[in-house]
Amino acid sequence: MIALLGVLGVVLDRSLERESVESLTESLASQARTIRSALPNDATAMQTEAVRLGNAGGLRITVIATDGEVLAESERDPGELENHLDRPEVREALAGAVGTDERRSESVGQELLYVALPPEAGRIVRVAYPLERVRARQAQTRGTGALGLLAAAAAASGGVLLVSRGVVGPLRRMTRALEERGEGLPPHLAPGGTEELRLLAGTLNAMTERVEAEMRAVEDGRRTRDLILSSMEEGVLLAAPDGTVTFANRAVVSHLGTRPVTLGALLPMALRTAAERAAANGGPTAVEVETGTPARWLRCALVPVDPDGALLVVVRDVTQARRLESVRRDFVTNASHELKTPVASIQAAAETIVQAAADDPDVVPRFAARVEREALRLSRIVSDLLDLSRLESGSEPTDPVDLDRLVREEADRFAESAASAGVALSVEADLPVRIRGSERDLRTLVRNLVDNAVRYTGERGRIDVRLASDDGAAVLRVSDTGIGIPSRDLPRIFERFYRVDRARSRETGGTGLGLAIVRHVAENHGGSVEVDSELGRGTTFEVRLPAA
Ligand code: ADP
Repeated sequence: MIALLGVLGVVLDRSLERESVESLTESLASQARTIRSALPNDATAMQTEAVRLGNAGGLRITVIATDGEVLAESERDPGELENHLDRPEVREALAGAVGTDERRSESVGQELLYVALPPEAGRIVRVAYPLERVRARQAQTRGTGALGLLAAAAAASGGVLLVSRGVVGPLRRMTRALEERGEGLPPHLAPGGTEELRLLAGTLNAMTERVEAEMRAVEDGRRTRDLILSSMEEGVLLAAPDGTVTFANRAVVSHLGTRPVTLGALLPMALRTAAERAAANGGPTAVEVETGTPARWLRCALVPVDPDGALLVVVRDVTQARRLESVRRDFVTNASHELKTPVASIQAAAETIVQAAADDPDVVPRFAARVEREALRLSRIVSDLLDLSRLESGSEPTDPVDLDRLVREEADRFAESAASAGVALSVEADLPVRIRGSERDLRTLVRNLVDNAVRYTGERGRIDVRLASDDGAAVLRVSDTGIGIPSRDLPRIFERFYRVDRARSRETGGTGLGLAIVRHVAENHGGSVEVDSELGRGTTFEVRLPAA
């Protein structure tokens, strides 16, 4: 704006100057005409008049003959002056026009504006006016003009400053706030400045809030996903099409032992091969692999994720399932085997009876007794199996049971058989011990332990059944001075159908399930059972049950 005002000023100044010179020229020409008509013809009188008129008008008046000779001069003696024919204004006047020129006069030592009229009666009247005076007036005008322009420029600058401040300030504040927001600082732009800026701030605020809400939702979703994936038992691993592992949850690390960086680093080898095959052919694959010590079995599902060719691997630890499966298989085999023996025996005896009924009736009672014995054994096995299966499904024992009374009653049942086997049975269960549980199961537990003790203790042996309270728990101890158990068999005697001496067990009517039932009952009551035995010396079973 200032530059524009400056240009305007210069143009105006130029045109004003031209204007003033032109109007001065015109006024000088008209004055010259007046002077010309007032000048007498006589040379001396003309000189005197020229001087008078020159002084009165503040002008320099020169009268020049058409041959250039100066006839009269208001400021100098005309005789001293040279021929004026070569002066530009004189030449123009001689050519018939009003001649003008601006120059420094050597005669008077001043810059002058000359105006010469065309000759009349052989005389050219020329008037000159000092340009200095014109310039002084012009300078004055110029000063006022410049001052005005300056004032206008100042006012314009002030105005622009005010307006820009109203826009730039709030814009800067908004930019700063947005930059800070980018670094995660609290949002919200203070609305300020002009109406448009307030509108802009409002729109930006609304937009930011929306973006933040969306970011929060995304973050919540991510957190939920991470929570779910990290608490899953299944290992979940995602690999990019180039084989880089982009995600692996905690379970992957615990199943595989490490967090693989690429599919190529996947171990065990069988899993890596399967992963590479699945990634290559694009179809889902499942593989079961063995890894680590102690050996664990992992079932891995490999699913290519469309459409980008990423691969999802889900790893599940199936060791427990596999073990259970093998236990179940063993159990079925064992149970079938255990059942088959008495059944075969019954079958054989029955066939013998059928034949002997005709040929040799005397042997019939012997074989009939065998049938009865084997049937009894069969029934014991079946009943123990039923007990076991009931106990395995777990129970919630809640009835209050007087354990002391129960132990006394169950142990007393064996008084007769112990006496006939020549074994001393002593029972010490006098202090009242009450627990919560299933009376039926607890009876089975006591019965199995005392029964074993009687069966595996020879003549002149001793059996002690003791019930005591220890630190809030009921402790039942059944110890005998019997044959004892070899230490290598100790860890296995609670397994189903496990027997140290199969023949002796069978002879004495054992099923191989008694101790398995004892352990299940103890565990169902939140307790435990332990054994301590020395071969040939005797055995002690200790059952601990939390008191009511
Ligand atoms: P069984 O019906 O054969 O007695 P159990 O499960 O009760 O089956 O016991 C498993 C095995 O533990 C028995 O076969 C026997 O070898 C051993 N056993 C159990 N109790 C005693 C004991 N008191 N003394 C010596 N051996 C025992």
